Amino acid sequence: MSQPHLTPHDAARSIALRLRDAGHVAYFAGGCVRDQLLLIEPTDFDIATSAKPDEITALFKGAKGVGESFGVMLVRSGGVIVEVATFRADGPYSDSRRPDSVRFATPEEDALRRDFTVNGLFMDPQTGEVIDFVDGRADVAARVLRAIGSPHERIREDRLRMLRAARFAARFALKIEPQTASAIKAHASELAGVSRERIGIEIRKIVEHPSRVGGAELVESLGLDAAVFAEPHTAGPLTRLAAIEHGRPVGALLAAWLRDRTDRGGGTGHWTEALMLSNRESGDLDSTLGLAAWMRDGFDGATIADRRLTLASTLTPSALDIVGVEAAARAQAIREWLSPYAAAPGGLAPARWVNGGDLIAAGLRPGPSMGAVLDRVYRAQLEGRVTDPAAALAQALEWGRANP
Ligand code: ATP
Ligand code: MG
Repeated sequence: MSQPHLTPHDAARSIALRLRDAGHVAYFAGGCVRDQLLLIEPTDFDIATSAKPDEITALFKGAKGVGESFGVMLVRSGGVIVEVATFRADGPYSDSRRPDSVRFATPEEDALRRDFTVNGLFMDPQTGEVIDFVDGRADVAARVLRAIGSPHERIREDRLRMLRAARFAARFALKIEPQTASAIKAHASELAGVSRERIGIEIRKIVEHPSRVGGAELVESLGLDAAVFAEPHTAGPLTRLAAIEHGRPVGALLAAWLRDRTDRGGGTGHWTEALMLSNRESGDLDSTLGLAAWMRDGFDGATIADRRLTLASTLTPSALDIVGVEAAARAQAIREWLSPYAAAPGGLAPARWVNGGDLIAAGLRPGPSMGAVLDRVYRAQLEGRVTDPAAALAQALEWGRANP
């Protein structure tokens, strides 16, 4: 069944209005209200409602419960999936991660269970009126990030909130309210009790956002870095992280942050384990560091073929950003060396003119020596020592026959 495509806003509004027509209370809730008040277009709209999950299912065919989340349903409208959650209150937290019990509750209780005042607002989907049980609107206007209720208690309930504070404050240019900030500093080491997976997810969100430097500065100045990276605390300039262009892979962004910390005697942890990086992310981190080191120490002595093959990496631009901070003239020289290749057909590592099939067709036998010939003739191609495919094949056959 295909429905017309709706914007996330229109999809959420139509769901909220349908809930209302059936006699329930339904509001936009949390991040989407905050974003609208900050004049940012929300990416998704969450709905909070008095309707219970079975009442939601009765109204929306195909509504599905969200795995572990109590009272949260996914409803599809106009091709958009919207989270619809029954107003709820959290019971006490004894494992500081998940409440021991959850029960359905009033809109006010649902606002009070949220982490920060700017995240605790509701909005009437019809009129746009803001429903504010937590004095969040004043904090949005004053650009303040403040815990709802006692910061110490809210952090003890869920220590990840400390890292969320750094992320939201940086992302929306909010000042962390002094008591909230001092509570975070006091509890910072307890972040180590939060799962590595949750920490890794927050750190990715921080470094992938254009506000990454502000977020990383807060992680360090609040003293969260020791628990985040499982290494000693250090805070200071983040010049390499600042130099990395937006949109680079997570592994490259982390490499820049790690180099900034290494400069201050830090960066000694095992980040792959500490942040539960994927093989890809971890490989990108190592490759970016390796490339940057090679640019400083290996580039000068390398052959043209080695330079071309090494710099063909997708991580070269990130490594150049880092080297640009550490050794500006060196980065500039490499950029200049690279520039003619931008226009060259096939770029730095074009298709091979000769492959194994060509040599077998000419009567050579496959094996290690054929591999060596293929490598040698490709390097000759990259260095301009053979100038066209026919010459390359002739050269490869000569080498292959001389040393079968
Ligand atoms: P984002 O743009 O990152 O998705 P968001 O505010 O929507 O921002 P979510 O993590 O999607 O953040 O959570 C949605 C809402 O749920 C938050 O605005 C907040 O009200 C509440 N919330 C989420 N995580 C927590 C938490 N750990 N503690 C308390 N409230 C939370
Ligand atoms: Mg969200």
